[in-house]
Amino acid sequence: MPTRLSATRLAARLAAKELGVREVAQAHLDRIATLDATLGAFLTVDPDETMRWADAAQAKIDAGEAGPLTGVPIAIKDNLCTAGVRTTCASRILESHVPIYDATVVRRLREAGCVMVGKTNLDEFAMGTSTENSAFQVTRNPWDFDRSPGGSSGGSAAAVAAEMAPLALGSDTGGSIRQPASLCGIVGFKPTYGRCSRYGLVAFGSSLDQIGPFARTVEDAALLAEAITGHDRRDSTSANHPAIATQALKSGTLRGARLGVLKETLGESTDPRVTQGVERALDALRAEGADVHEVSIPSIGYGVTTYYIIAPAEASSNLARFDGVRYGLRVEGKGHIGMMEATRAAGFGHEVKARIMIGTYALSAGYYDAFYLRAQQVRALMRRDLEAAFQDFDLLVSPTSPVPAFKIGELTSDPLALKMLDYCTIPANMGGFPALSLNCGFADGLPIGLHLMGPVLGDERLLQLAYCVERALPDATGRPPLP
Ligand code: GLN
Repeated sequence: MPTRLSATRLAARLAAKELGVREVAQAHLDRIATLDATLGAFLTVDPDETMRWADAAQAKIDAGEAGPLTGVPIAIKDNLCTAGVRTTCASRILESHVPIYDATVVRRLREAGCVMVGKTNLDEFAMGTSTENSAFQVTRNPWDFDRSPGGSSGGSAAAVAAEMAPLALGSDTGGSIRQPASLCGIVGFKPTYGRCSRYGLVAFGSSLDQIGPFARTVEDAALLAEAITGHDRRDSTSANHPAIATQALKSGTLRGARLGVLKETLGESTDPRVTQGVERALDALRAEGADVHEVSIPSIGYGVTTYYIIAPAEASSNLARFDGVRYGLRVEGKGHIGMMEATRAAGFGHEVKARIMIGTYALSAGYYDAFYLRAQQVRALMRRDLEAAFQDFDLLVSPTSPVPAFKIGELTSDPLALKMLDYCTIPANMGGFPALSLNCGFADGLPIGLHLMGPVLGDERLLQLAYCVERALPDATGRPPLP
């Protein structure tokens, strides 16, 4: 069944013409049709559009121009602009917004010959940790339909875990790729800030946002990272650095690799089953010759509070553009201010409004120094401490999420508890560090994610070591119990 194959295997069989691109795309569309009424991973599926991408990919193969991902289906988070295909950010305010251009990453997917199977659900404007903040639907975890797939890229993670696509794109501001990857038992990778162009990603926290891949293997994630990264003059924060290279992906070793285990992430607030799963994985890495030591970085304890000032501050400024004038929804009101008020009142959901208010407050005269400026100072300290740790370690290791997948609705009445779940993933965004989550075991049938963080621009080495880690944990992956 083509839906079971990794992207790498699919691409090889497509290039060898053992499979046709349309046939592979159809198999994935059929699986979406079967499963997605239950899972709710997709907001938009347009089979005709998918077949246009498929025909373009087949033409590449027929012309002998196939690349490593040509013909491979991919799901795209619905905050990435796709020309001619609705891009909603799971918000009423953009419910019928159809971009006229592709995000740079989407353009690069077309160039690589990938085949878009649909746009995936998210927390509204990527603000959340459970995909419950979507204005349109809740996404369910393929491992247990009563549980959340995590968020905000929960649709992308569920789609890949449920074999509705071998690859997906997400965005990660405070953990939105890695945390859902963890809760769904797959690989999620956030590259170094700046390696992946943000052009055409609907901005949330611009100094934190980064696009990255979901896949079921490290190799697939690395190939997708290679396809989407590289300098882009349309993003002023784009690193002047080539795309992530994968040719040395398989030539790393854990022998002598220096792994620093972040003490602060394995304390009381981490579920003991997660701690045990991570410790078992660390034993397996030691057995492969890794040099594993505990390291304490107390400043990461300020990550969540700092992030929840900086991210809303940037969001409050970024979301000012949704004013009923240029994009999406317009609700008439008294005069043009009344129109903007009515539009924003009707168009934004509760969480988005809360963040706009918090962010506006943190930036306002008199409070700026006490909140936003102070948060940026703490951020700088945290980044400095982490950079210093990378003098001693190749990777910093922790759980990805302190808990396995939680029940849908379980945390909706406790927003603080939900936000605390981000404490392992936020430090990477604060310093722009590359980080990856991969599955390292199970707790009562639910996946446990292992989080690996590398130094800035150390993406290649991080992927190389992640590839070794995956090989050292052969029993740590599995397939969810689906038809
Ligand atoms: N959970 C975090 C938040 O709610 C991170 C979201 C993200 O990375 N987009 O902001």
